[in-house]
Amino acid sequence: MSKVIISVKDLHKKYGDFHAVKGISFDVYEGEIFGLLGPNGAGKSTTLEMIETLRPKTSGTIMVDGINLDNQPQQIKQRIGVQLQTSGFYPGLNLTELINLFAGLYNEKVDANKLLQQVNLEEKAHVEFKKLSGGQKQRFSIATTLINKPKVIFLDEPTTGLDPQARRNLWQLIKDIQQTGTTIIITTHYMDEAEILCNRVAIVDNGKIIAIDTPDKLIDNLVDTGFEKVKEVKKANLEDVFIHLTGHSIREA
Ligand code: ADP
Ligand code: MG
Repeated sequence: MSKVIISVKDLHKKYGDFHAVKGISFDVYEGEIFGLLGPNGAGKSTTLEMIETLRPKTSGTIMVDGINLDNQPQQIKQRIGVQLQTSGFYPGLNLTELINLFAGLYNEKVDANKLLQQVNLEEKAHVEFKKLSGGQKQRFSIATTLINKPKVIFLDEPTTGLDPQARRNLWQLIKDIQQTGTTIIITTHYMDEAEILCNRVAIVDNGKIIAIDTPDKLIDNLVDTGFEKVKEVKKANLEDVFIHLTGHSIREA
């Protein structure tokens, strides 16, 4: 693959006595979707927030686009897109007003309509944030990561709590963003999502990376050990039935 855009070396985070991130190292390549997978409490959000410069690290090295976080955190902030806390979305403002507000904070000029189009919300341009469905709120929040035209965006469990159609819709949006050349780091505890979306994944458990590779390679490695699924796998699952019956279209208005 191409050049390394994020490089993390021996990263640690202690919250008081509690060692939440225990020396993790990984590289992210430009243009890929890189997944941090793991159960709740594994240290995924802590790791993201340290790279995002939002949480101080205890030790280790973080480089983003050739910039050392210890020396120029401000330069890193300019190059990355972070999902803003939805609590900061003034509920009484409509989507266009919110985008213009955030663009002002970033000192950027943004075509709000074009951005809303990109996340399939152009029809909601004059609707207040609080009136959106869960999936629409997530799509809008992803739109806000793109305002400063970042090289890398960070998505922390973007599909948690969404229904199957809204999840698929978001997967498509994430792939579309990748097509524009943006690198994406995503956390999830849904393995189906990771398998579909991620070029490479790191499996994090208990503050450590226990495996890192493409989903295919990780699966092949497991099969090579002689692993076989106990039950014969059906050709479809209940989620397929649900999607088949209720349709693939966006149904979240
Ligand atoms: P994940 O995102 O993988 O679910 P987190 O990074 O949020 O995991 O948390 C990793 C561990 O660190 C958890 O055990 C969590 O309880 C702990 N933790 C997270 N934030 C804090 C904090 N501000 N103070 C103390 N412990 C924290
Ligand atoms: Mg988390």
